[in-house]
Order: sequence, then structure tokens, then C-alpha cells
Amino acid sequence: MSRFFSSKYSKLKPYVPGEQPSDMERYIKLNTNENPFPPSPKAIAYAHEHTRSNQLYSDPDSVLVSQAIADCYGVDRDMVMVTNGSDEILNFAFMAYTDKDNPALFADITYGFYPVFAEINASPYEIIPLKDDFTLCVDDYIGRRGTVFIANPNAPTGMALPASEIERLVKADPDRVVVVDEAYVDFGAESCVDLVRKYDNLLVCQTFSKSRSFAGGRLGYGIASRAIISDLNTIKYSTNPYNVNNMTSAMGIGIISDEEYTRANCRTIMENRQFTVQGLHKLGFTVLDSKANFIFVRSDRISGSDYYLRMKEKGILIRHFTKERIADWCRVSIGTRESMEVFLRTTEEILSAQKA
Ligand code: PMP
Repeated sequence: MSRFFSSKYSKLKPYVPGEQPSDMERYIKLNTNENPFPPSPKAIAYAHEHTRSNQLYSDPDSVLVSQAIADCYGVDRDMVMVTNGSDEILNFAFMAYTDKDNPALFADITYGFYPVFAEINASPYEIIPLKDDFTLCVDDYIGRRGTVFIANPNAPTGMALPASEIERLVKADPDRVVVVDEAYVDFGAESCVDLVRKYDNLLVCQTFSKSRSFAGGRLGYGIASRAIISDLNTIKYSTNPYNVNNMTSAMGIGIISDEEYTRANCRTIMENRQFTVQGLHKLGFTVLDSKANFIFVRSDRISGSDYYLRMKEKGILIRHFTKERIADWCRVSIGTRESMEVFLRTTEEILSAQKA
């Protein structure tokens, strides 16, 4: 830290992203929940043709890509906002809806960026522990003042709540905002997007990073009432009006015009997830019920940190978190069938070596 760094950030602990090694080809990468398939070829062709000359600024309203998303979900364009990844809209939501009278409320085991967003915005926050089996009980939030942030499916557990439970939470207190982070919703969970027409205190955030194979393009979006989108625009136009670049917008339009490609990849990933879970069960692992493109796993035969390290030595990257409650667990992204076969074989080898 330099001696110039503002004291308001001196205690800030930044979010730690998963490893993105420069010698990537050495690894099977199952640590950051990316999609193993490339973006749709139709999207690449579309972007090639439609990327405007970049000497001009991008459209600050991102009209074309917002309209494409709005059409896809059957909402009006002024109920959509696009951002630089969904991390950006989540940060906007912390900026817009948390303060000393409205603390952020979120789980102890959830997306690690939430406490960082709260800290950087100097917002108070309350951590509400998940149940012993890692389920989230919405009653723990009802009757408590504050803005709720729920990842559904949750990360890193992969477990999901039905939309009816989120609706119960949203309905219970119309005077506070509930933010549902649906980054992984397309892998088998129920979306709350349809509820935004009914409740003006619900913000649903999604991303092109997971089901739509576009993590590197950084395209996220929120769907909510017009009033919420207008608040978020106030924040956006006060920080970074050109937050989504021309190339990313063009890819976004192309990707969304090929939903069948996205859905087919999601189906394949869900099949590969089932295949991997079955293989791990045979090896005696405990695996939480996942509706995401990753699984959360533990074995009595190896600690979470050793499993992660042995796998890395053998060229497979998975994610281990040091937080005490989940130190025994590892998160494994679901890749191609071939990758998951190698993953299972390698796991078996590591467990056999443990025994010896
Ligand atoms: N929410 C959750 C739960 C996530 O795991 C991630 C990915 N790290 C994000 C949001 C943000 O993803 P992106 O910024 O790529 O849209």
C-alpha cells in the first residue's frame, strides 16, 4: 500500500478471483465456473458484421442489446439494464440500496463478492448463516430490516430455492429491495424474472458469463421495475456511462439470437453434472444437490485443501475456500464429458494413493 492510499480503503480486503494461469493449456480448468463450450458461431459471425467502428463511444443506453434481452424475457426495455458483467450491477445495487438504515443481508456461505461490495460502499451488513445442511431459509430474512442479496442457485453450494420461496420473501415486505443473483439459473433452477412485473421491490441479476459462454466479454444484466432500473441508471451515469463496449454488445445480441445453442449446451452440462455426481458417489464423496454448472463436494478420505493441491499437481484446477465452515469442501466446475472423465479418474488415483 502506498502512503497515499485513502484511509477509507486501508482495511478493504479485495475479492480473490479463481486462478487464471498464464500456462492455461497445462490444466483442465474446473475452478471458475466457465462454460467449456465457445460462444455460438452465429454470435461470432453477427459480431463480426455488426461491430461498429470503435472510434465512436458505445451507446450509453445500450439500446440494441437491452432490447434483445427484453424481448427474450418478455419485458419492456426500460425494465432492463446491461452492465460490465453482473458484478457491476450487483455493485450498483449495493450502492443504490444499502446504507445505515438498510444494511445488506446475505448468507455466510454465498458469493464472496457481497461482503466486498458492502465494505467498499461503507454499507453495514448482517450475515445470516445457512442451515447445517447448507439450505437457505427465507424466514430468517423475513421481519429483519435490510436489503436482501440471495444467489439462487447459491455459490459455492449450487443449491437452489424454488421461485415460490423467493416470492414469499419479496411479498412479505414490499418496502425493501430483494436482489436475486441468478448467475447460474439456467442449469436447472427456477428463475424469478417473471415476478418483476408483479413486484416493484425485486431485482433479478443474470449474466452471459455462464450459460452463454461469454465470461471474457463481461456482459451482465438486471431485470426489474422501471423505477429500480432508473435508480441503477442514476448510479451508472454517475460512474461509467459507457460501461458496455461495442464488441460485447454485438456479441450479446448474436448470442441471444441463438438461444437454442445456449439451451443445448446447458443440457449437456447438466448431463455431465449428473455423470460426475454419480462417479463421485461411487468414490464415497458427499455432493450437495446442485442446480448450477458446478458441484460442491467433500470426502472423508482427503481434506479439501489436500484434494485441491493433489488435483493441481495432476493438472486439474478446482476451487478450495479457506473459510472454516467449508474448509473440507471443494467446488468443481462442470466441463466437457472428456474433462469430467479425466477428473474422475484422477480423483480415484489420488484417493488410492491416500490409502497406500
Ligand atoms: N454471481 C455469482 C454467484 C457468481 O459466482 C459470479 C461469478 N463469479 C457472478 C455473480 C459474477 O459474474 P459475472 O460478473 O461474470 O457476470
